[in-house]
Amino acid sequence: MEKRLISVDRWAEGSEAYFLTHLHSDHTHGLTPSWHHAPLFCSAVTAKLLPFKFPGFDLSLLRILHPGTTHTVTLPSLTLHVTVMDACHCPGSIMLLFRGDFGCILYTGDFRWEATCERATKSRHVLRDALRHVPAVDVVHLDNTYSNPIYDFPPRHVAAQQIIDIIASHPDHEVIIGINTLGKEDLLVEISRALQIMIWVWPQRLRTMHLLGYDDIFTTNTSLTRVRAVPVYSFSINTVEELNYVCPTIGIMPSGLPWIKKSHQKNELQTGSFLTSRYKRGKLSANTETQIDKQIVKTGSPEKIHKYIYTVPYSDHSNYEEIEDFVKLVKPTTLKGIVSSSSCYIEPMYYFGRLCPGNQQTDQVHEGCKGKENGKREREEAVRSKTLFEGDNFETGRDRGKALKGRFSGVHVSRLSILRKKRRGAKIQEHDDSSES
Ligand SMILES: [Zn+2]
Repeated sequence: MEKRLISVDRWAEGSEAYFLTHLHSDHTHGLTPSWHHAPLFCSAVTAKLLPFKFPGFDLSLLRILHPGTTHTVTLPSLTLHVTVMDACHCPGSIMLLFRGDFGCILYTGDFRWEATCERATKSRHVLRDALRHVPAVDVVHLDNTYSNPIYDFPPRHVAAQQIIDIIASHPDHEVIIGINTLGKEDLLVEISRALQIMIWVWPQRLRTMHLLGYDDIFTTNTSLTRVRAVPVYSFSINTVEELNYVCPTIGIMPSGLPWIKKSHQKNELQTGSFLTSRYKRGKLSANTETQIDKQIVKTGSPEKIHKYIYTVPYSDHSNYEEIEDFVKLVKPTTLKGIVSSSSCYIEPMYYFGRLCPGNQQTDQVHEGCKGKENGKREREEAVRSKTLFEGDNFETGRDRGKALKGRFSGVHVSRLSILRKKRRGAKIQEHDDSSES
């Protein structure tokens, strides 16, 4: 087994320390209640929620990281410094800047740093200050969920107001909103305050809300409110249509993901459920793919995709412009995406390599594509990605396993990378057989 020093959002045995950016399932794949490999570093909020997700977890393994602080971590093989920033993605989410003998590595985790967000501004200051102490960031492991120019959705407060307006314009309707087991709390609080209404959540989610300190807004009593936040796996066209047999109901799905209008023709797409970008290319005919490409809806504004259903581009991931601003701020030597799938991954260097100092090769490739084909390839690739790509906002129970396989999150810092870094600028013996252990 390769001996690793630290792992971020990866849980295989063999590292001296583990870091968890946040508790979404695609970042905890492999973590279990009996996991016991080494100390686990995370934010205080994540530490508070973790035993709820993993009952029986050995809490003595947890080490708390505080956003806005640089911690020094001493491990058997090295000492490293880690600067912690609020990732503004979901409760407890953090971004991590590592410094040590291995160089400087920034792991964003999932993040949303809007220009208008006070917390994000604070995080940017922390990062800027930390960057003053490093000659360069060698690698950024980037939340590339929306690293494509087609994703131009608005800040969350704008999307939240769009949702509030939709609910307010349906005073006699019940409302269901699709959410995950963690995240979008701020949205629900804004709805509650604006409309002076409680929000129904399912019992497990109510417990999470109480752990997060929301005591008065949420309820499990359906008679107290007409607005219900429901698990995304239970949110479908069929569900909303069936609810309308009982009483007028609208569904709202807050997500930066695009939506595809379904076909009802026989032998084509499944009916009765949303078709999101997770829909597998393998299930579709070439002809159907073309139809889907033509039916992709714009991602930047609310859409009524069904007579009872709205999608609103409320996203906890940064949009393209925000990612671009982030890369301009960090100016890393190279970028690696933390989100990938075999069928739709766009290498972040494709769009952002031009912002990495000294990365002339990528720059030429990028400009070459634009010049030769006048952006055609970019747009085609964007549409393909948009059709197939999946973020963590919309996992059904059935699809979750496949989604986890398709989505990669995590990074290891290995002995090899330290050896390489130490050799940088030094003479390396031609037959040096030093090896990772
Ligand atoms: Zn996430």
